Amino acid sequence: METVTLVLAVSAVLLVVTVVAAAGLVGRTRRTRGSGRPGTSAPPANGTDTASVHAGTGTDVAEPAIETPGLERPEPTAGRLTRLRSRLGRSQTSLGRGLLGLLSRDHLDEDTWDEIEEVLLTADVGVGPTRELVDRLRTRVKAAGTRTPDDAATMLREELLTLIGTDVDRSLTTARDGRPAVVLVVGVNGTGKTTTVGKLARVLVADGRTVLLGAADTFRAAAADQLQTWGERVGAPTVRGPEAGDPASVAFEAVRQGAAGGYDTVLLDTAGRLQNKVGLMDELGKVKRVVEKQGPVDEVLLVLDATTGQNGLSQARVFAEVVDVTGIVLTKLDGTAKGGIVVAVQRELGVPVKLVGLGEGADDLAPFDPAAFVDALIAP
Ligand code: GDP
Repeated sequence: METVTLVLAVSAVLLVVTVVAAAGLVGRTRRTRGSGRPGTSAPPANGTDTASVHAGTGTDVAEPAIETPGLERPEPTAGRLTRLRSRLGRSQTSLGRGLLGLLSRDHLDEDTWDEIEEVLLTADVGVGPTRELVDRLRTRVKAAGTRTPDDAATMLREELLTLIGTDVDRSLTTARDGRPAVVLVVGVNGTGKTTTVGKLARVLVADGRTVLLGAADTFRAAAADQLQTWGERVGAPTVRGPEAGDPASVAFEAVRQGAAGGYDTVLLDTAGRLQNKVGLMDELGKVKRVVEKQGPVDEVLLVLDATTGQNGLSQARVFAEVVDVTGIVLTKLDGTAKGGIVVAVQRELGVPVKLVGLGEGADDLAPFDPAAFVDALIAP
């Protein structure tokens, strides 16, 4: 009897072991399949030296778990600005439709031209670009004589597009080229920098890239937590350092792990406490220099809050002095009537707007498309 019990017990244990082993195999197969997607290289399982990673959650780099249940699937990025066009509501009303209404009047007297200028200045287009636009519109109106509302819309559309620039390269360098593309994201705290890094990770994942995040804002633990949460939602791991640690070493470590792990893109979030301007700028310069020891930084994205107007422009100047900004991310365009800042900031820095934030939702970041933007502004 005792022998029978023993045999039954051993059989039960064997059964459990077999089931567990089989389940493990299934899990492993899924994961391998997920990381073998076209367009991404599967990071080696032991490709990172976790011993040198700082303590704390989320420090070690796992495979990007592409098909893991529970991960969100971000919306595709193509046509996002068109889909989000209604978010430009206040800029649409005052800038786009306001201008169109004035320009469609039968008789354009000096008062009307003054009003047109006023609308442009109030929408933060800036003095120089406003003058240029008004001069060009005046010339065209004179040449055209009478105008139908459609003529006025075509004229305005073309001139706004010329002002914003259609022949500018607004693409982001985020693809692997023998090493991960490194994207440094800078800007003053509160502009939406960390949120932008999180949303950008989603944009890249949606476009088929594997992404590693680096929490180089070591002064606010909350910033690293926030970033990690964004990353976890789409399977992008976060490299973190100890609180108040050296941001440059976190950035260096993230890039190192990104290369070792075979990631396509490393996104680095940085600190932005402008109240300590000199310290901040020294720190930012150091982060960039230290990262460059391993290879070039491919993009430096400056995040600006569109609602801050001239203040935002002076912030932009300060950052541009320290790091070569390659693109601007204008956030909170949904919360302002100042859509003209797109023009002003490009003029000021000579750098294109590459992305725009149009809300607090996870997929409310859109690649900037001048034609879609202008169409949204003047749509009836
Ligand atoms: P950081 O201090 O620069 O890292 O700023 P955060 O990323 O923490 O963002 C500050 C606040 O701005 C948060 O409440 C975000 O949800 C909000 N925010 C960021 N981008 C946008 C945007 O495009 N539109 C709106 N309405 N809010 C945004």
